[in-house]
Amino acid sequence: MRKIEHIGIAVKDIEAANQLYKSLLGIEHYKEEQVEIEGVATSFFKVGDTKIELLKALNSESPIAKFIENRGEGLHHIAFEVEDIGKEMARLRELGFTFTKDSPSEGADNKLVCFVHPKSANGVLVELCQEIR
Ligand code: ZN
Repeated sequence: MRKIEHIGIAVKDIEAANQLYKSLLGIEHYKEEQVEIEGVATSFFKVGDTKIELLKALNSESPIAKFIENRGEGLHHIAFEVEDIGKEMARLRELGFTFTKDSPSEGADNKLVCFVHPKSANGVLVELCQEIR
């Protein structure tokens, strides 16, 4: 894995969170994007080489809605950039890690993504992401 690509934060109100993170980081978000299939609206900030991804549920079926219901707003996942997501999934499966889905899907920010199940990673939802080339 190359680096921490971004950190995902679950929020209830993305406009309010945009304002808050603008104040906190001293920068504007540079992009908003909806990922319909995941039921999320996202907003991105860039801090140096790493991004902050704010995530808001678009409907009550969204994983973000369920997360906030169970645990409240806050740190949702850590995303690592990988060169080849298929290879990395195979490597991790070999080591006994499990994933929330069998194969990668298209995420926000022009990425193929998959998630290591938190049960496999000390309660942390770990995202792998690969730039779509
Ligand atoms: Zn993410």
